[in-house]
Amino acid sequence: MTNLVLFGPPGAGKGTQAEILKEKYKLIHISTGDVFRYNIKNETELGLSAKSYIDKGQLVPDEVTINMLNAEVDKNEGANGFIFDGFPRTEAQADALSVLLKEKNTEVSAMIALEVEDQVLVERLLERGKTSGRADDADEEVIKNRIKVYYDETAILKEYYKKQDKYYGIDGVGSIDEITQRLSAVIDELMKK
Ligand code: AMP
Repeated sequence: MTNLVLFGPPGAGKGTQAEILKEKYKLIHISTGDVFRYNIKNETELGLSAKSYIDKGQLVPDEVTINMLNAEVDKNEGANGFIFDGFPRTEAQADALSVLLKEKNTEVSAMIALEVEDQVLVERLLERGKTSGRADDADEEVIKNRIKVYYDETAILKEYYKKQDKYYGIDGVGSIDEITQRLSAVIDELMKK
């Protein structure tokens, strides 16, 4: 199995690239943000417990997020592999992912991080907010908080995967196609192993 953690700050382009890569490599794309938004829209219990955090740009608590992720992975028995988009975001989540994949006799193959500077992120997210319908994209303060939360709580995971020799950084500025090519170069190498 090939299990990729597609990493990077909000607005780095993870979702856009994951949609392309899942077709190209026949992987299951799990975006924890998308699952939360689906549940909020359908007013499920999970959606209700996640909404207040998401609206403020804070992380949903680990326990809720990890249980949801486990259920999503279990729904896809027999998959070729996964693209995790927006997960893990904390060390507890990374540990939980490792345990979950180990139970399935597999592991994270690589973390591929899209690197984009903050000013570009804010501009991209405000632009996306005009059409995405996402409240957390429309408010500059919430956007800035999401970027801050990324640096304060999530960016440490680069070190986590570097220690395991699984970290790959990619320049996330360029056309969609250029970035897909950069990501594909890494994934093609991994798949040869
Ligand atoms: P995203 O679509 O990845 O930008 O996520 C949107 C929001 O969903 C985030 O700002 C968090 O509030 C929440 N969220 C998504 N994934 C996670 C996660 N792995 N851990 C905690 N909260 C998350």
